[in-house]
Amino acid sequence: MNNVKRIDPRRPFVIAPSGLKRITLGAEHIAGAIDEAAQAALHGSHTQKAKPRRVYEAGARALLVAAHSDRGALDEHARQTIAAAAIVADAATEVILVVFGELTDDAAALGADKVVEFPALARPAFAPDQALAALRDCVSAFEPAHVLLPDNATGDGDLGRRYAARVNASIATHVVEIDAEHVGCYAHAGVSFATRAWPDVILLAPEAVAAKLPFVGAGERVAVPSEACAPSNTTRYVDRGTTQLDAAQVALEEADFIISAGNGVTDIAAFEALAKTLGAAIGASRVAVDNGHFTRDKQVGATGKTVNASVYIAFGISGAVQHLQGIKDCRHVIAVNLDGSAPIAKRANLTVIGDAQSTITALAGQVEQAKQASHLTVAQASANVREGVAA
Ligand SMILES: Cc1cc2nc3c(=O)[nH]c(=O)nc-3n(C[C@H](O)[C@H](O)[C@H](O)COP(=O)(O)OP(=O)(O)OC[C@H]3O[C@@H](n4cnc5c(N)ncnc54)[C@H](O)[C@@H]3O)c2cc1C
Repeated sequence: MNNVKRIDPRRPFVIAPSGLKRITLGAEHIAGAIDEAAQAALHGSHTQKAKPRRVYEAGARALLVAAHSDRGALDEHARQTIAAAAIVADAATEVILVVFGELTDDAAALGADKVVEFPALARPAFAPDQALAALRDCVSAFEPAHVLLPDNATGDGDLGRRYAARVNASIATHVVEIDAEHVGCYAHAGVSFATRAWPDVILLAPEAVAAKLPFVGAGERVAVPSEACAPSNTTRYVDRGTTQLDAAQVALEEADFIISAGNGVTDIAAFEALAKTLGAAIGASRVAVDNGHFTRDKQVGATGKTVNASVYIAFGISGAVQHLQGIKDCRHVIAVNLDGSAPIAKRANLTVIGDAQSTITALAGQVEQAKQASHLTVAQASANVREGVAA
């Protein structure tokens, strides 16, 4: 008999503007007061109306949220952290967002009232000392009551811990529950739950807070505080750059670009060749795996991998709820399907209604052509340079 205990990996609740949102099958139960705007946010009826601005008294008190961006965008976890600050902020509190990297997202829609950008400190660059100095300078300039960061392994979690250690600040990590007075996290390997009053630094766990807000912030871009402008040459770290890996070697959960095949893909060889041409990792629906076309480790979904790609192209995948569960954190989803009313089309940012096989062939052809053209351009450019040097 198999008596291994299994733990439900899903969090049983999430903090939303309306209070604690319990997740039960088929229903949403809201604990706490529900205001009209939050109701609208939950049921989608707000989409037609412009969201109201959160009103606050500027300069009275501030919460500072810091996060690294990637190619101009903040990931879902960073958005949840901003939302956490905006949800708990009262009328005397403004939310200041410090972004390491550029921000092309609408900061107001994220709930931020002020935004400071450090474009040179984006995620691919490894500059922990400069990021720490920039954060300290922002804290001295804005004097926030608390600092919040996403507790991730891609720079922000590390930065929060370094900052707290450097300035001797109190800190709570892996925070899964937050309200205006308390934060809570699991302790003793998840056996007990600990709460405390807000510390100086809060590192928020992923999926603890709903990023969707029923209001917007002021979204005002402000200049980098003058103390933070001076470049620091005193770093003890050397950034040796990034290494390009074969996409097939990247774990699906870490892949930034995934193409995925479902039951509608019959030419598996062409699909795999396209993945190679695009430099994308391969995913699959459960049916495609059950059919023996792909190994089980390629399965995306509730009983497979949860992926976090910037681009996810789903070829011939219907978009069953179990599959959608695995791609909920993907930034851009593109669907290729014969059926424009397939559920995947509701989730997709772009749907191509057409045959998977012919789309794969056409796409592979276009990419090859573009690659050749860019080689020609490079070859032409170097020829021009050679001619120029010779002349
Ligand atoms: C407990 C449980 C757990 C599950 N876990 C998972 C999971 O982790 N991951 C997962 O993926 N599924 C999972 N499933 C299965 C899930 O319910 C669906 O059955 C499965 O995702 C369907 O796969 P599919 O979309 O590839 O196939 P289908 O449902 O057969 O859909 C094929 C799609 O391809 C389109 N199509 C057909 N021919 C073409 C063509 N020539 N060109 C373009 N489009 C075409 C069709 O219009 C259709 O939309 C689970 C089910 C259960 C009950």
